Amino acid sequence: MNILERIHNYARIIPEKTAVWTGKEALTYGELDQMSDRLARELETVCGDNREPVAVYGHKHPYMLVSFLACVKSGRAYCPIDCSVPEGRVGEILASLKSPVVLAPDGNFTGAVKDEDTEEAEAPARQKDSVWIPGQAGAGQGKKQIWGRERLEEIFRSGGEQDVRENYPRPVSGSDLFYIIFTSGSSGTPKGVEITADCLNHFLEWSVSLGASSKGGAVFLNQAPFSFDLSVMDLYTCLACGGTLWCLEKGVQEDYGSLMDSLQASGTQVWVSTPSFAEMCLADPRFDQRLLPGLETFLFCGETLPNRTVLRLMDRFPRAAVVNTYGPTESTVAVTEVSVTREMAEEKTPLPVGRPKPGTWLEIQDPEGNILPEGEQGEIVILGNTVSTGYLSRPDLTDKAFFSRETEKGEVRGYHTRDAGFLRDGMLYCTGRMDLQVKLHGYRIELGDIENNLQKLPGISHAVVIPNRRNGRISSLTAYVSRENPADGAVSERQREETILEAGRMRRQLEELLPAYMIPKKIIFLDHMPLTSNGKADRNALEGEKL
Ligand code: AMP
Repeated sequence: MNILERIHNYARIIPEKTAVWTGKEALTYGELDQMSDRLARELETVCGDNREPVAVYGHKHPYMLVSFLACVKSGRAYCPIDCSVPEGRVGEILASLKSPVVLAPDGNFTGAVKDEDTEEAEAPARQKDSVWIPGQAGAGQGKKQIWGRERLEEIFRSGGEQDVRENYPRPVSGSDLFYIIFTSGSSGTPKGVEITADCLNHFLEWSVSLGASSKGGAVFLNQAPFSFDLSVMDLYTCLACGGTLWCLEKGVQEDYGSLMDSLQASGTQVWVSTPSFAEMCLADPRFDQRLLPGLETFLFCGETLPNRTVLRLMDRFPRAAVVNTYGPTESTVAVTEVSVTREMAEEKTPLPVGRPKPGTWLEIQDPEGNILPEGEQGEIVILGNTVSTGYLSRPDLTDKAFFSRETEKGEVRGYHTRDAGFLRDGMLYCTGRMDLQVKLHGYRIELGDIENNLQKLPGISHAVVIPNRRNGRISSLTAYVSRENPADGAVSERQREETILEAGRMRRQLEELLPAYMIPKKIIFLDHMPLTSNGKADRNALEGEKL
């Protein structure tokens, strides 16, 4: 059974079971299935022959799930965009999606669009129920209808006793795209990773078996925003198991007082988060098995799992399994898994990230593409049935990172991760990046993305962003910038004050262009950017200069 069939099946046999809950709003399996049926029918009616991916803008409201399912039921992929994405980025993403509709089920749509190609600095007038996307012909430009909460609720109420599933004859399946998730792109523009229904279904066949075996009907923690592919691990694994998804809103995650109360109320049994989020919770002494007595499994992905975190979790939650998984968005969330033992946590640094799931294999390649033997370090290359078809409308980037290979079992997709690692006894170890991609609090960031956006600001000639490390892990970012017209000679007190003001101004300008987690904590102005002998910005010199 594929994921849509499974959900429909639960809606028939356990219609009253809660499928999703935020602490404020909840939906049962019966409601989720029926509402998404009705919305799918409306999408089919309005979009007609246009089967392009549909943006779903919002945060954690249960209608987000209804919208995702409605899109795929109607034969269209969806692209989740979290409310925390700044307006400029929302505009860039919308410009690459050719659907005439944007679903905005979770509050107000605020994605204004700027057009640098015209003389207008701001987007043309935006009405409450539509947005105008400027851009080049053939892309996602033009008027898009915004379907906000009111419109969606009208659609959900529009009954009809007959089986509305007859109204959308062709749900997404097989090699059709199921979702598109945008990640940071080194050129300063986000890139959309395409994931097919087959990729997702192969992933789920495996993810339902991770950790403690009894996941049927369990409560899953959803920490990550839906625009981060880690959320796929909780959202669809939960729905595939007939479980309840407990969505932890950003506001609650940031409010230390209510976070523990909220976790306690959730009754979480399967924990899915980045290690950073678990570390944040560990700082509160209440975070232990008494708070979450039913917790059976910690599922981690997205960044290095530190040994100390595992040991502290094992002390506080002696009955729970700790599972480390690894993979990029481009291979559908995760492709390797290991249940971490105390012995591993005490002896092995870095911890292994695990063995590949069925249908996936790994190669460690040298820069010429030769396969290296066990124990030797090189680039991790992932091959198998969950590797993406590529980046949306970016054949140039797709060709660079992805490839197809003929095998005895037919053609297989492969992806160059740019992660460094090695295999030992069939177990993968990930040792870092080979490029300028970093993970900060679990978020994937291309430093080039920040640098290119800094260089768009007036008066800036060059920008380099350097990660700051604490206890072996990236804790913040510092931007070094040189101006087009550097101040001459000694810096006066007044110039110093102006510099502080300017740094504040730049941060505010950047906030328009980048998500909050990508804004450098410090901005340092340099008279001249240090250069290497071949004329590139000398990152090592700047690393040495860090405050
Ligand atoms: P994302 O596409 O946001 O999931 O980020 C994928 C990248 O996160 C990978 O290419 C790795 O660099 C890193 N990553 C994911 N899982 C792990 C892990 N368990 N240990 C270390 N790094 C990881």
